Amino acid sequence: MSDGVGKVNVSDAVLGIEEKVIGWRRDFHMHPEIGLEEVRTSEKVKEHLSALGIPFKVYAKTGVVGHLDSGKPGPTIMLRSDMDALPMTEENDVPYKSVNEGMMHACGHDSHIAMLMGEAEILAKEGLERGSVKFCFQPGEEGRDGAKLMIKDGVLEDAPKPDVILGMHVWNNLPAGQTAALDGGCMAGVHEFEIEITGKGGHAAMPHQCIDPILIGSHIVTALQSIVSRKTNPLDRLVLSICQFHSGTAFNVIPPSAILCGTARMFDKEIAAEIPHMIEEIASGVARSLGGTVKIDYDIKLPPTINDPVVAAFARGILAGIVGEERVVDAEPSMGGEDFSQYLAEIPGAFVFLGSNNPAKNADMPHHHPKFDIDEEMLKVGVELALRFVRTWGK
Ligand SMILES: [Zn+2]
Ligand SMILES: [Zn+2]
Repeated sequence: MSDGVGKVNVSDAVLGIEEKVIGWRRDFHMHPEIGLEEVRTSEKVKEHLSALGIPFKVYAKTGVVGHLDSGKPGPTIMLRSDMDALPMTEENDVPYKSVNEGMMHACGHDSHIAMLMGEAEILAKEGLERGSVKFCFQPGEEGRDGAKLMIKDGVLEDAPKPDVILGMHVWNNLPAGQTAALDGGCMAGVHEFEIEITGKGGHAAMPHQCIDPILIGSHIVTALQSIVSRKTNPLDRLVLSICQFHSGTAFNVIPPSAILCGTARMFDKEIAAEIPHMIEEIASGVARSLGGTVKIDYDIKLPPTINDPVVAAFARGILAGIVGEERVVDAEPSMGGEDFSQYLAEIPGAFVFLGSNNPAKNADMPHHHPKFDIDEEMLKVGVELALRFVRTWGK
């Protein structure tokens, strides 16, 4: 049981902006928008950056990146927030409940936008000592390829190129007050695949005249499970699930084809690179041995979110100064995916978990739950973390 966020060491500037950040968070919470359709959200962000005199550029239609430049040498640090909500109906009874039917900020991205706006405001007002900061407001994190689209639009290439990236997520898997910046993998890689099996159809009573794709598919489902722990080290976290098996139209007809669909989740980069070949080899080998063929559609949706150990250790050092060393914990990585991984595949950075679970504030539901809410006191911790990161990284 947690006592809530409790005592934390944050600056007067952050305390001074806390109420505003919570207000923004509640406004975004009330007006959630689905990935790649964050039109109002994007406008609010642009208005805010304009008012602060921070120039910005639009990426992936609703993405916005503000650039605060000191004009002096130093690192270019990218701070990233996602902006999208989920297509689901909110069941919370709060004054800031979603007014958009069938849409809800049930992952906490509303908090991320608000924190990043607060960070921009403080840094713009106090001025940067060195280098520059890019405030990256990214659309479409929830399965809509937002980060990929931003990168395609040049967000990591446009001058000055970011040297390092910091992302954070309010995290109801941890009690409010606790934080984590893990070394290495913190969120899983997400692969999706479809295997189309072609055999030869015919009469159910004369299977010897056929090549049965359902039998082939059944062997493939079983054989694929031998990847986990037989082809990969049992100590490496890997899940492979076949979630769809479609075939056939009648009791007495062996169909000509079958389709299997599934997903693989992993943390290790090498495994992520090998899995598509292992699946291909097993599926085509099994099919061939039974007289059929396969066609595989393989989609690497997301690489694993792999923190750079140097950046993660740096973030942990800062967090220890804010919440106390005992509340910088070794949290469990998540088998869920996070498209911050797309940036980490290109440049070093870290993804930080900000514990936000607090039953005393009705904030103890899991992410993506219709009653998801957070302990908003954690927002000031995120803002403080980003500010200290900007001021001290690379010094
Ligand atoms: Zn989510
Ligand atoms: Zn999320």
